[in-house]
This record gives sequence, C-alpha cells and structure tokens, in this order.
Amino acid sequence: MPAPGTRWPSMLEAIREELVELHRELPRHDLVVWTGGNVSARDPETGLVAIKPSGVRYEELTAASMVVVDLDGRIVEGTNKPSSDVASHCYIYRHRPDVNGVAHTHSRYATAFAAVGRSIPVYLTAQADEFGGEIPCAGFAMIGDEGIGAQVVEAIGSSPAVLLKNHGVFTVGPTARAAVKAAVMTEDVAATVWAALQIGQPDVLPDDVVARLHRRYTTEYGQ
Ligand SMILES: [Zn+2]
Repeated sequence: MPAPGTRWPSMLEAIREELVELHRELPRHDLVVWTGGNVSARDPETGLVAIKPSGVRYEELTAASMVVVDLDGRIVEGTNKPSSDVASHCYIYRHRPDVNGVAHTHSRYATAFAAVGRSIPVYLTAQADEFGGEIPCAGFAMIGDEGIGAQVVEAIGSSPAVLLKNHGVFTVGPTARAAVKAAVMTEDVAATVWAALQIGQPDVLPDDVVARLHRRYTTEYGQ
C-alpha cells in the first residue's frame, strides 16, 4: 500500500475524471432522470473504488465530488457521502475479481421488465452479440445495504447485465466504460423487445446460434 500522497492521488484522479465523463453518458442516453443511477470504478492497482456522490445532479458532478471508498465502503477520499448503493457495488467487487466497473440505472424499458420480474430471452442478434445469453432478472432487495449486491452476484452469471426485480438494472464489466456500455445496450435491447412483444411473440434464438454470434462478435468484429 503506497504512502498517502505518493501514487494514489494521480491514479485516482484519472479514475475520478473518467467517472465524470461516464456518468454524463447516462442522461445522454436517456437512462436516468434527476439524480437516479450511478457508476463506480475499481482501481485494479489499489483495489479502491470511486463512486458517484449521493443525490448530486449529473451536471454538477466533478472529479473532486466523486467519493473513494475501500472494499468495505469506508470513505478513503472525498467530502461527499457516497451513493446509497455503495455497499452493493462493494459487495459485487469483493465477489467478482474480474469486475472493475459497475453501473446502475432505472432505464425505462429494462426497468419495465424488472417491474414484472421478467428476464429478457435472446430474441435479437444484438443481444447474442453483446450479452451471449438472456438478461436474467434477480430477486427483490431493499436499498441501502449490500442486499442488492448479493442478488446481483447470485443472478448475473456470465452476463454483463442483470435486472433487479421491482427496481432497475445493474451492469458489470472489466472497466467502468464496459459497464456503462452494457447499460446502454441493455436499454436498447429491452426497448426493441418490448416493441416486438406488442405486435407478436418473437422466437428465442437457439443456444448454438447465440454462442456462435457471441463468439464472432467478441473475437472477430471491429478493428
Ligand atoms: Zn436504484
């Protein structure tokens, strides 16, 4: 553990600044209203987590307003109170060493599926590409302690996204940027599936097709 004032400040400064930029993606993609939703990032070097301050408007977020906590949610840096979901973010990081970013929204269409406790099967190639399987729906948990994190870890499996019954969406990724991208993609898939369900019953893509699409997308697609 480096002494305070050596390398923590610069490293965490970069993470805090990236978090401000990533938080702006949430209102930009219509995934949040007012102060709802939050993103956190774990610094792989120190294991510390930077997270949105509680109840601060997106346009007022600054690098300095972000709160840095340890994996038990104790404040290490920052003068603000962390997001009320901080204990759940920390629970996810403690149980998923592969995860360094977590995002949470109440985005409309995905949360409609969560409201009725319904997972989203793979009806679309875009979902096979991005998620490699269904977007599961976890059980209900109260806000404020790590109960939500426990539901997320239990239900999410290898998916980057999970719905939380009667609540909203949690996404995870190897970086905070990947978690935010998964939040955007979750809402996009949920909106299209919702529209499809208004005009008929879509077919679920077979598992082997989903696996092939996901493999192609994750190994061959892009530059
Ligand atoms: Zn919430």
